Amino acid sequence: MAQYTPMIKQYLDIKEQYQDAFLFFRLGDFYEMFFEDAIKASKELEITLTSREGGTSERIAMCGIPYHSAPNYIKKLIEKGFKVAICEQVEDPRQAKGVVKREVIQVITPGTVMEGTLLDEKENNYIASLTPISEDHYVIAYNDLSTGENSVAFIRDGWESVLSELFNRPVKEIVLPSNMENKYIEVLRDQMQFTVSFEDEAEMPSEYTYLIKDLESPNLISGFGRLFQYLSRTQKRSLTHLQAVKYIEVNQHMKLDMYSKRNLELMETIRQQGKQGSLLWVLDKTVTAMGARMLKKWLDRPLLSKDSIEKRQAQVEGLLEQFIERESLRQALTDVYDLERLSGRIAYGNVNARDLLQLKKSLLQVPNIIELLQSINQAELQQLASNINPLHEVNELLEKSIHDDPPLSIKEGGIIKNGYNNLLDQYRSASKNGKQWIAELEQKEKQETGIRSLKIGYNKVFGYYIEVTRANLHLIPEGRYERKQTLSNAERYITPELKEKEILILEAEEKSVELEYELFVDIREQVKRFIPDLQQLANQISNVDVLQSFAEVSDQNQYVKPTFTSTRHLHIQNGRHPVVEKVMKGETFVPNDVVMEEDQDILLITGPNMAGKSTYMRQLALTVIMGQIGCFVPCDAAKMPIFDQIFTRIGAADDLVAGQSTFMVEMLESKHAITKATENSLILLDEIGRGTSTYDGMSLAQAIVEYIHDEIHAKTLFSTHYHELTTLEDSLAKLLNVHVKAEEHEGNVVFLHKIQPGAADESYGIHVAKLAQLPDKLINRAYEILHQFEQQKTPASPAPAKVKEEAQLSLFEPDVTNVKNKVSKKEKELIDELKKLNVLDMTPME
Ligand code: ADP
Repeated sequence: MAQYTPMIKQYLDIKEQYQDAFLFFRLGDFYEMFFEDAIKASKELEITLTSREGGTSERIAMCGIPYHSAPNYIKKLIEKGFKVAICEQVEDPRQAKGVVKREVIQVITPGTVMEGTLLDEKENNYIASLTPISEDHYVIAYNDLSTGENSVAFIRDGWESVLSELFNRPVKEIVLPSNMENKYIEVLRDQMQFTVSFEDEAEMPSEYTYLIKDLESPNLISGFGRLFQYLSRTQKRSLTHLQAVKYIEVNQHMKLDMYSKRNLELMETIRQQGKQGSLLWVLDKTVTAMGARMLKKWLDRPLLSKDSIEKRQAQVEGLLEQFIERESLRQALTDVYDLERLSGRIAYGNVNARDLLQLKKSLLQVPNIIELLQSINQAELQQLASNINPLHEVNELLEKSIHDDPPLSIKEGGIIKNGYNNLLDQYRSASKNGKQWIAELEQKEKQETGIRSLKIGYNKVFGYYIEVTRANLHLIPEGRYERKQTLSNAERYITPELKEKEILILEAEEKSVELEYELFVDIREQVKRFIPDLQQLANQISNVDVLQSFAEVSDQNQYVKPTFTSTRHLHIQNGRHPVVEKVMKGETFVPNDVVMEEDQDILLITGPNMAGKSTYMRQLALTVIMGQIGCFVPCDAAKMPIFDQIFTRIGAADDLVAGQSTFMVEMLESKHAITKATENSLILLDEIGRGTSTYDGMSLAQAIVEYIHDEIHAKTLFSTHYHELTTLEDSLAKLLNVHVKAEEHEGNVVFLHKIQPGAADESYGIHVAKLAQLPDKLINRAYEILHQFEQQKTPASPAPAKVKEEAQLSLFEPDVTNVKNKVSKKEKELIDELKKLNVLDMTPME
């Protein structure tokens, strides 16, 4: 290090502390990068790599970007998941002795961006921290710097649940303890695609203890402390807009594991990875960006409390019934800007007058919104309305201070209204009077000289001047003006009194621009005091927006209000799949009932491929989720229990988990359901065992059904193509067979998509083949083979294990070898028949 130049030494010292970020090192008008950073950045940003002397014999790799275009480059790097440390010159180079002092003033990371262009307005931008407490216990803290929102969750059941909790959340970055095990880091970085950062636990600084006032356990506090420490270390500024940390009681929300969140396509589809085609896509009729973000939060955490669900339902119902009020409400919401992010920017000090004007326009709508809600005759809505504070003070302040059409810049004046500040008014009138005087002077000079084209102009270099064209120069009386500038066809003049006025005007203008800036900053500070109120208002407006969105979709799609039972009845009449019915072209969706009485836990669904089995299962899960977030549901009537968790094993996503076979994924997902489900859960298992050989798969499928039936008692839909399993209905009291049938219509296979009682016809596969008009000879042969199979093997036994044992004993009771010599003809036939059997290939029952 000794031989480097002092500046490179300074660079290396600073870089040492920011090894995981690109260090943007300010040199004059450029940000420069050196060494490895330069090599990497030149590739990522496609900029030229050069080199420079650094004191050693080898040249140092270098690349640079002009400081004014830095935002674009920063954006590129952040989008790729990198971090950027901005290192500025913190003293005046002219005053510096030796190398100019430099410091990192902010580290911009994917989880801490505030820039509008880097944020998706309809999505939160979370940074999370993860703190392991023990093998099974973890604390996850969340922050969205752009909105100031903070929360923590306590995870009690292991690593899988950590992943399920984080899955689907718009988390961009995760902060971990530095001793986190590598295998976990890899999953978070490679599979969840989070930017990974490290920070040790830290105490909360005393001025921020208000943030943790609602947290009771030291684990939660220190978990949040880790996140806060990282934020303050990277942001290096006051974080006063942060809101008190909310404790998310994960047990008060329906749990959805990662597989189910993905399989059910709640937020995005598996194949396109986009919103289109997801449940969110159907449900999102929100008008504001804040509402869109809130809807995602609701969808991510369906409720368990009947009271809370019913409260939302009542509000939705009120809005649903009042079409005109709802329309007006939607209209009013279109004028409400993103108050939440606006508050964040106000706190960070980067708002301009136009932002404040947006705030004013938004606030102007609030009384209107309150009134509309009040006018709907529904107690919960009126309650909601009466809690909204319209923040008249802020509105009044902005109304009297901010000009109706301010410029983007806050440093060039034109922001503050007349009448807001006395001194400003005086400056303005001085400047205005001066200009008036100049206009009068122009008239006077024209008259007195008789030069009609004489005019008074202004430019930045010469100030005010009198301009006379060349043709009229002879008309100017001797000594009247002082020549200042010669143009090709005119001369420009000044007079002492013109210059005097000019000084007055310019002084007034300069002072008024300065004063306007001061006034603006003061107004911004005044508004800043209302940030907690603005955040609360934002929250209330977001709720209203989501509620009206539910009312809107429910109205448009004829959804109905479900009722929740404390018994185990599940009755859905003419249920539909909310997404499939929306994307169907030409055809109409065939509605189906789901009926499970109190003592029925399992529906075993059989039927050919493409009949609609998995659609039926998914539609139940989506209906349950919609119901528990407070939305109405796609059917004619619904009565259902409140489910604590939903587990799914549904095809189509098989290829997604890298490096695991379809079958392994199938087993992992099943394990999840079986180990975590309670009797209040909903389990959907589609075609279990398909991924392995027939007997193997069928045995597993049966064992899983039996296990759920005997041990878990969760409501379960189980679809299978193992027809043999339908005999389970005889031995498992709480299991019921249903099936979907295909029919022939004018020679074509037609799927009616109608769920019917009982088991599917055993030969439905061949039946479908026949409908598909495979050759008769082939079809007949298939029936023949099926018949043989039926004769020879009845593979899976539906009987419980205990019965099997008895059967086994009785089979071996007669000692066949001893009766060899005294057999009758009939017995001989029987023995021959037995000899033909391969015992190794048979089950005990056979
Ligand atoms: P399975 O799981 O039995 O193989 P799917 O549930 O995947 O069948 O359904 C196959 C196709 O049939 C789906 O793509 C869907 O478009 C259509 N479908 C399913 N159920 C219905 C229904 N109730 N009404 C209309 N179309 C349906």
